[in-house]
Amino acid sequence: MLRKLLLSSAIALALTACGERPATDTAMPDSTAALPAQAANPLLSASTLPFQAPPFDRIRDTDYQPAIEEGMRQHLAEIRAIADNPEPPTFANTIEAMERAGALLTRASLAFEAMTSAHTNPTLQAAEEVLAPKLAGHSDAIHLDPALFARIRFLYEQRDTLGLTEEQKTLVEHRYNQFVRAGALLSETDKAELRQLNAEESSLTTAFGAKLLAATNAGAVLVTERARLDGLDDGTIDAAAEAARAAGRQGWLLELQNTTLQPQMAALKDRSLREELLAASMNRAARGDANDTRATIQRLAQLRARKAQLLGFDNYAAYAIANQMAGRPEVALKLLNDTVPAATARARAELAKIQAVVDQQGGGFTAGAADWDFYAEQVRKAEYDLDEAEVRKYFELDRVLKDGVFFAAHELYGITVSERHDLPVYHPDVRVFDVFDADGSQLAVFYLDPFKRPSKRGGAWMGNFVEQDGLAGTIPVIYNVENYTKPAPGQPALLSYDEVTTLFHEFGHALHGLFSKTTYPSISGTNVPRDFVEFPSQFNERWALYPQVFANYAKHYLTGEPMPQALADKVNRARTFNQGYATTEYLAASLLDLAWHMLPAGGGVQDVDAFEKQALAKYGIDLAAVPPRYRSNYFNHVWGGGYAAGYYAYFGAEVLDHDAFDWFEQNGGLTRENGRIFREKILSIGHSRDLARAYREFRGKDPSVEPLLEFRGLK
Ligand SMILES: [Zn+2]
Repeated sequence: MLRKLLLSSAIALALTACGERPATDTAMPDSTAALPAQAANPLLSASTLPFQAPPFDRIRDTDYQPAIEEGMRQHLAEIRAIADNPEPPTFANTIEAMERAGALLTRASLAFEAMTSAHTNPTLQAAEEVLAPKLAGHSDAIHLDPALFARIRFLYEQRDTLGLTEEQKTLVEHRYNQFVRAGALLSETDKAELRQLNAEESSLTTAFGAKLLAATNAGAVLVTERARLDGLDDGTIDAAAEAARAAGRQGWLLELQNTTLQPQMAALKDRSLREELLAASMNRAARGDANDTRATIQRLAQLRARKAQLLGFDNYAAYAIANQMAGRPEVALKLLNDTVPAATARARAELAKIQAVVDQQGGGFTAGAADWDFYAEQVRKAEYDLDEAEVRKYFELDRVLKDGVFFAAHELYGITVSERHDLPVYHPDVRVFDVFDADGSQLAVFYLDPFKRPSKRGGAWMGNFVEQDGLAGTIPVIYNVENYTKPAPGQPALLSYDEVTTLFHEFGHALHGLFSKTTYPSISGTNVPRDFVEFPSQFNERWALYPQVFANYAKHYLTGEPMPQALADKVNRARTFNQGYATTEYLAASLLDLAWHMLPAGGGVQDVDAFEKQALAKYGIDLAAVPPRYRSNYFNHVWGGGYAAGYYAYFGAEVLDHDAFDWFEQNGGLTRENGRIFREKILSIGHSRDLARAYREFRGKDPSVEPLLEFRGLK
């Protein structure tokens, strides 16, 4: 659920924040002439390949930075011309002109973002470091331009009298809100305070990240007797020995992962070592030393509350959620709160089974968080008896892709996919496909980059090289990146069930991108709020287990025999395993995030640990055996990353996806007619209208959390 992020790099965020998008398909002869040394830089002009696919055979690593810098320069000049236009503001000469601006910056940044994530190297990393602050400054320069804002404000105030379409009106509102949220309406004094708060927030956020990294490294647990490692596999033990050597220490070093529970705890037989590891994890940045993050958290919470107050909101969560689908923190809070009873009840039932195993083995202790995974693993084996290696033989990558993922999309939406070999790729593993609509017209170009390699970051994601843009007439050029283990030459790539789900998930994002039919690029495709963006992708995962789809792809890689029913049943049942724990730890962290960010300005927290304890008790989610997925002192999503008051978003999107799937099931499941309705009302609209209303119109009612509870086995 929580492992996949979309467009997560700083570059992409900067882009989204200032909204540059692909515009007209014009070459830039003047600027090219102005840069003779870069005359051969292929990024400086629009690609002449089909659908403007990036010319990876000609782009050099050193081409990105100068192209992006030149792109910023051109974009600012275009924005300047819009702001200084002597004509009175119109939708066309202001809002639409902004949509057309920044073509070079968008083109170069989208390709750069793809490379720094999927195939990076020291040259690209160095360029990234240089560009990040420049892109942030570029965004400020646009948002703090008073002449530009005056035009946007005029159009916003007149929006009901200008004869705008719904999409145009929505876009005017987006632009206006974007500028207001950046402080455009404030007095000069308040703007100065806001800038100062922003600067302080940025440095505290960086400081939090640095302290947490140091604290996590320092929190590693050193083991000096090999016997204590009993239960770990040889690979893990070797890695621990290597980690100790690298740190100049004797023995085995168990390094901490980012979440509360540590993976070794599922295998370690030595209970005292499991407890030592858990304590090291939970208190990693709360030891009263130089790496203690608690003072940083206190100040961050306070300054965010003040920032929200300056911008006219009750608290920071209200500010952060105002432009999300939930709209208000109370809505997000209710969603989480409503799930607490079912999740904790299920977690308690799971704990009872764990305790039964402990007692059966004469353990003589009460099972706690440190024991959970160790005994849950035994419960899993006893209850599901699922042989992972056997399951993989039925999930061969190419078959899952064509007979599963593409098949489901064909049945639902009528699209067909065919591989092409003429477009240049950035790595030999990358495959390229044309995607056609039912009437034979081309919808998109789709790249798949399936395998792990050292130049690729972890996880799986989707992105665009070219976005759907009704103004420029471009169709989307989309990529999916996965991290599957590359088989030896001549061997098939066999996936786990989790990896199968990921393939469906990322292609769900791709469908959201390729069905887009908006006029304006800044609101096309997946340019939607965070608590909506994971909806189409998580929804698409649901087809993986759908009988008609599953039977079509789950076939033995050698014999082509379908998966035996008994094994398929086990795969199906195993999905609800341990969901009480997983849901409870997630809810606890999400509620902590909201509790911190719903503090009023001036209401500083004196004691971080006491505040956390009270908040968890208040929401009835203070189970000793199920600590939050992240405690406050190492909750990097909200203090070091971009998820402040936003950790709930995964769950918000998940409610939608199960609720939507419920609608499909009630209406005959996998049918072309159901697909047509979903495509028309959800997948094609980008953010061109109010999404809560669009969902209501699709579903005939507001989303309900019940189908999610059922799917997770919490009912
Ligand atoms: Zn996703």
